Amino acid sequence: MGDPRRAIPRTDAVLGEPRIAKAVETLGRDLVKSLVAAAQQRARAGEIEPGEVVAEVVARLPARVSSLRPVLNATGVLVHTNLGRAPLSAAALDAIVAAGGATDVEFALETGERAQRGRGALAALAEAVPRAEAVHVVNNNAAALLLCALTLAPGKEIVVSRGELVEIGDGFRIPDLLVSTGARLREVGTTNRTSAADYAAAIGPDTGFVLKIHPSNYRVTGFASEASVAELAGLGVPVVADVGSGLLAPHPVLPDEPDVATALADGAKLVTASGDKLLGGPQAGLLFGDAGLVHRLRRHPAARALRVDKLTLAALEATVRGPEPPVRAALLAEGLHERAEALAQSLQSAGVAAEAVDSTAVVGGGGAPGVELPSAAVALPARYAEALRLGEPAVVGRIVRDRCLLDLRTVSPADDAALREAVRRCG
Ligand SMILES: *Cc1c(COP(=O)(O)O)cnc(C)c1O
Repeated sequence: MGDPRRAIPRTDAVLGEPRIAKAVETLGRDLVKSLVAAAQQRARAGEIEPGEVVAEVVARLPARVSSLRPVLNATGVLVHTNLGRAPLSAAALDAIVAAGGATDVEFALETGERAQRGRGALAALAEAVPRAEAVHVVNNNAAALLLCALTLAPGKEIVVSRGELVEIGDGFRIPDLLVSTGARLREVGTTNRTSAADYAAAIGPDTGFVLKIHPSNYRVTGFASEASVAELAGLGVPVVADVGSGLLAPHPVLPDEPDVATALADGAKLVTASGDKLLGGPQAGLLFGDAGLVHRLRRHPAARALRVDKLTLAALEATVRGPEPPVRAALLAEGLHERAEALAQSLQSAGVAAEAVDSTAVVGGGGAPGVELPSAAVALPARYAEALRLGEPAVVGRIVRDRCLLDLRTVSPADDAALREAVRRCG
């Protein structure tokens, strides 16, 4: 036998192989070259045959350059923070692709001059909430609150109920965020009860604004009461309402969830919300309200540090103007039991121990705490959970009583076939 190193294919030859040449276009030359070098090294070490170098490279080509992998959310949690909150609509994804190159985000093609940044997204939001005199968009709802505190309460007090001192998640607390701006918190009332009179007694020359925060991830029940935005609006200082979830108008499935239009109608001067919860769009902080106040927010030096990029603006406009995004479709989903039965039967005939079961979906950290949405799931032996998570696409279900439940309320019907195939591959 001759020297095996002689037969090892040269880098150029491997890179010229059609499947690998195509991968160079999508993954980049450096990444693919490093895989080729590793395969050649393995051939030199005698771990693989020289004739296997191309196959070895092809087998190790990643599906994409980004390490973020697509996941089918079968958890039954509509707005799943760890899975990136709202999945975008196809229209929003298209808008992102269109805006990805050079785009007229801050330029008027008609005149060839500079134009208001993101005016399309702002106009879409303004049309969706006619009561808002002005609209502004920042990085997220936390940024919206930060900007309110920086602009309206420097060296002043923000009056807030002790029942609304919210920890959002991952250790982040709205009171800490507000205090970090140099504003002081003036806490009023108790954990379970706060009245309009409590706020009134605290308001004075030092008041920057009254903040009403929606407790979007917990509920205070029992001997509990709170002052409404309408009551607070009469106290003579601006009321900022953080509605959290991003409902622009009341939603029939979530009658207790606050919305932007109602908060404005009740007299809030500014309303803040997230873009990637129940609105179903990209991460963003939405600000609606009084034209003068919004103008001041926009002109604050920190506004520049909190602004959103063109991709967010594109996705936001498409979310508001376009077809119903997945989160909102999930809220209104019907025929879940029929889908679960069909999937379970099809899996059974493929030899999988699958069963259609009743399930309960929830909105999640994005809002509507305590609201249970009736749902249906495919139940599998628990051992499927890990294999499904590691598949392509990854599937994340939830373990209930030692079974892996795939809840269909959070899966688009268009993904049922992909879900079935993902389960079969784990069989
Ligand atoms: C989610 C939430 C926030 C934080 O919003 P981000 O967009 O994640 O910054 C703030 N306030 C309330 C009431 C929320 O529900």
